[in-house]
Amino acid sequence: MPIPTVLQPRILIAATAALALSACFGSPDVMKRGDPKRPTASAPKRPQVAPTPSFTSAEAQQCAFELKQAGVRFTPLANQDHGGGCSSIDSVKLLDIGTPTTNLGAMTCPLAKSFAGWAQFAVKPAARKFFGQEVVKIETFGTYSCRNIYGGRSGRLSQHAYSNAVDVSGFVLADGRRIMLDGGWKGDKASQDFLRALHKSGCRRFGTVLGPDYNAAHYNHFHFDMSGNGYCR
Ligand SMILES: [Zn+2]
Repeated sequence: MPIPTVLQPRILIAATAALALSACFGSPDVMKRGDPKRPTASAPKRPQVAPTPSFTSAEAQQCAFELKQAGVRFTPLANQDHGGGCSSIDSVKLLDIGTPTTNLGAMTCPLAKSFAGWAQFAVKPAARKFFGQEVVKIETFGTYSCRNIYGGRSGRLSQHAYSNAVDVSGFVLADGRRIMLDGGWKGDKASQDFLRALHKSGCRRFGTVLGPDYNAAHYNHFHFDMSGNGYCR
């Protein structure tokens, strides 16, 4: 298989870089960058075990291969147990999906693949169709974050805690105009049509899609994750 030989040196480089960046040993840099808008209430827990090599299963290797075939630039990340049930397994850091995107931290490979496809084959054409121009930036609230669903003190861990979710907050067009979920979802017709088209196409690509119509907590973003089987609200 070609993937391990390609990926292994990168894993070592990524792991070395992470160590070099850390102020203290064992502090996962990626964890702190997960979700700047919603910091966790408690102090980050120390990882339970040392990072282990990722993309060792045939399934994971196939995903990495397909991501590469799609022309996406990414760095594979070493598997991390962040403690508290939170983890990043077979995850990547996306470097180039064709459209600059803010706040992307660790993403599971299937999530990264779906997101890159959505950006290229849904966001780009929809911007041309509804606004007659290119999208120059996709804005997100982040990916990995060790927290419960809705950021609650108790309850199930969010898919964000597994690097398996991304929250998209808006888009910047070539003329500088920002189409944000907050405002755009109930905004002018072009913004409404654009965002609803992206919501609909998201439902074909991600396991779970939650938008402004789902509940008040999602008034300003699309939540995309790879759990579920086409749950679309
Ligand atoms: Zn979310």
